[in-house]
Amino acid sequence: MRTSYSNLNTFKQCPQKFKFQIIDKIKAPRSPEALFGSSVHETMKFMFSHDPLFPTLDEILGHFSENWKAALNRTSGLAQELTQIYEESGRGMIKNFYKNNPPWNFSVVDTESHFEVLLPDANGQTHILAGIIDRVDKIGDGEYEIIDYKTSRRLPSQEAVDVDFQMSLYHMALLRRWPGTDPAKIKLSLYFLKHNEKISSMRSNAALEATREAVLKTIRDIEQKTIKNDFPPIVSKLCDYCPYKRICPAWKHLYKKEEQNFDEAKLQEALKEYFEIKGVASKNEARLSELQGVIKSYMEANKLERVFDERGYYISKKIQQRFKYDFDKVREILTAAGLENEWQKILEADEKKLKLILKTLSPALRAQIESHRVLAKEFIVLTSSTKPVK
Ligand code: SF4
Repeated sequence: MRTSYSNLNTFKQCPQKFKFQIIDKIKAPRSPEALFGSSVHETMKFMFSHDPLFPTLDEILGHFSENWKAALNRTSGLAQELTQIYEESGRGMIKNFYKNNPPWNFSVVDTESHFEVLLPDANGQTHILAGIIDRVDKIGDGEYEIIDYKTSRRLPSQEAVDVDFQMSLYHMALLRRWPGTDPAKIKLSLYFLKHNEKISSMRSNAALEATREAVLKTIRDIEQKTIKNDFPPIVSKLCDYCPYKRICPAWKHLYKKEEQNFDEAKLQEALKEYFEIKGVASKNEARLSELQGVIKSYMEANKLERVFDERGYYISKKIQQRFKYDFDKVREILTAAGLENEWQKILEADEKKLKLILKTLSPALRAQIESHRVLAKEFIVLTSSTKPVK
């Protein structure tokens, strides 16, 4: 399979979005955030280009404004006020970055560098993972720094950066391009332009191996889902930025009620009654538990085994006991009786324990076991929410 970090990330966020975007190739307008990010990235590339001189700050800011205006022509409906907010925010980020990072202070080896990482799978296939690295600097003898610019507001923790999947891939990409590089001399940095903050980390061989296995696992998952044409939507706060929301099975009913091919009025009645009954049921459950507390206290205080109401209905107190066996003894007895097979039946696999053990295994062993996972049962459940969507 030929794919990219961004495709894998889309799949992990929501398989349904992956289907719309990558498999069905449904064109969707890019969000203002995405257009803004592209304009800023393009400007950062321009900042470090020199022919022979580096551009001045004014030229860089002019370049950004032009880029942003061109990007706006490719979208529609963004309020004038909002476009200005974005532009000011971009210019502010660029100015701050330039002040702290004059381009002539760095030995930039490449910007917007296209790469491909080859990932051989145990089944003999080789997958290709392609992408673009924002910037690569030489920072010492045989030492490199990979820099990825972020325009998001969210500043992750150091721990999150230490295991960042995208940066691990970039590390693998740089090693493929320059195989002689010492893996321990590659620094990985995320530069958060909004905060003018850089968070760096390194990668151990074990971390890179884990990334490789995680990527292969995701690719296998995509292949499986493609065979079954099963791309479930995963509803999250990212839906608010998803261009496919109006056609997504998790949301489209909200937008297109009148176009559904079933009796909408009948559904609305069913939903109304469902929530009413559910509301009463959960209130009843809570009240029943309170009443049980009152009754139990009364029975204990009066040392009673049964209590009766005025009609003769009654409640009894029962002690329920659960026992567990001493399995060493059970094995001893069964084996002594020549019933070794019966003992083996008792030892039948325990899924919960396996899940716990999997967490402790090496990525390679885990992937090997997980490749033998088969779907045992599938059923539909309805879950409900009484928190209205905005
Ligand atoms: S709206 Fe949400 S659930 Fe639907 S495709 Fe987009 S991200 Fe997935």
